[in-house]
Amino acid sequence: MSDTLFHKVWNAHAVRALPSGQTQLFVGLHLIHEVTSPQAFDMLRQHGWRVAFPDRTFATVDHIVPTKSQTRPFLDVMAEEMTVALERSCKEFGVPYWPPDNDNQGIVHVIGPELGLTQPGMTIACGDSHTSTHGAFGAIAFGIGTSQVRDVLASQSLALDPLKVRRIDVNGALKPGVYAKDVILTIIRQLGVQGGVGYAYEYGGSTIDRMSMEERLTICNMSIEGGARVGYINPDETTFASLRGRRFAPQGDAFDRACAWWRSIASDRNAVYDDRVTLNAGDIEPTVTWGINPGQSVRISERIAGDAHDEAFAFMGFHPGDRVAGTRIDVAFIGSCTNGRLSDLEEAARVVRGQRVAPHVKALVVPGSRSVSRDAEARGLDRVFTDAGFEWRGAGCSMCLAMNPDRLEGRQICASSSNRNFKGRQGSPTGRTLLMSPAMVAAAAIAGEVVDVRTVLREEVHV
Ligand code: SF4
Repeated sequence: MSDTLFHKVWNAHAVRALPSGQTQLFVGLHLIHEVTSPQAFDMLRQHGWRVAFPDRTFATVDHIVPTKSQTRPFLDVMAEEMTVALERSCKEFGVPYWPPDNDNQGIVHVIGPELGLTQPGMTIACGDSHTSTHGAFGAIAFGIGTSQVRDVLASQSLALDPLKVRRIDVNGALKPGVYAKDVILTIIRQLGVQGGVGYAYEYGGSTIDRMSMEERLTICNMSIEGGARVGYINPDETTFASLRGRRFAPQGDAFDRACAWWRSIASDRNAVYDDRVTLNAGDIEPTVTWGINPGQSVRISERIAGDAHDEAFAFMGFHPGDRVAGTRIDVAFIGSCTNGRLSDLEEAARVVRGQRVAPHVKALVVPGSRSVSRDAEARGLDRVFTDAGFEWRGAGCSMCLAMNPDRLEGRQICASSSNRNFKGRQGSPTGRTLLMSPAMVAAAAIAGEVVDVRTVLREEVHV
């Protein structure tokens, strides 16, 4: 019988149906970090439990690590304490752990795919909202809360409600200057931030098929911002090529056997979906948020529409009919698990090369992992950014969430390649976030205000 990847993976991992109507689902991979795990480990200690599958559990530090100097002990006492607590727990419970000075350290959603831990057909859980990222590889990946982290540590399983599946097709070629970030911001604007509640989002169509794994990670990363519990893309040759040779991927003949299984778990051609939506890639423009949730965005050429009484207008200082283009910025942030990968930095560097950051702008580049940082430095991208006046920082979440010293001050406006523009998200309760692609952030940093990156790229072509 034909079926979707979601149902095939769900059924393959179902332990039993629970009286509540939920399903107990086995979790193939559990990723943990310093923020949501301490209480979960404490609960294990209180009950005298062990970690059920330490070999399926991997830990790193990302949210609180400083990015200016990662020398231990950290100057921030709280950050040091949280890191020490995670280290102690990993040692006590036998969980593999990558510390801040390890070559594999980085944002948990960046290092999982990098190391080949994230594989098609898996169920993945992590105590972090943006776990949906891993769905880019054809996995079903759930962001979970602290008590669920405890459940997974103790039993390697989760009690979950069933989901419906919405197929989202994006077809056609993206125009130059339009990126995966613009695609997902457009999807969220069109379907709403609550539109995906109760759904898994399956992305497909010729635009998605042509995307690199890094672009697909950007798409799946923000599924949660559209309300979807998970987002995924069926595994294909791009997926397999990206996985081959990675440290934790199957090796040799085992890899070819795995590919055969991975192909079989992709949604069947005649699979039936609970809902279908189609977008034309040619209609998508560089997109920027103007409000306080990721659904409040406009095409860069558009004026903001909406009800003047919406609290977003008062908070952000915009009015109905305004354009976001031309908005003066104070800070430019390139990084995060949405857009802190090598191709993101390459696209931003294309815009920045030979230019100078506007004098009033503080501009940061924070690679998503140490591996991204090394690869970028090997290509000389760090010099492109620093020559232009950007700060080149160590890997971590940084100003995406501002749990470290990288934060907005007062009413500052930040052009950001991250994923959330909620009030206070970047560290200042009154700070304002404009979400956009890394190339758009780079263009805003140079111009000192929000601009259409296509004008910059056109100049680049003419030079
Ligand atoms: S980069 Fe931002 S969204 Fe991603 S894991 Fe870190 S804090 Fe969460």
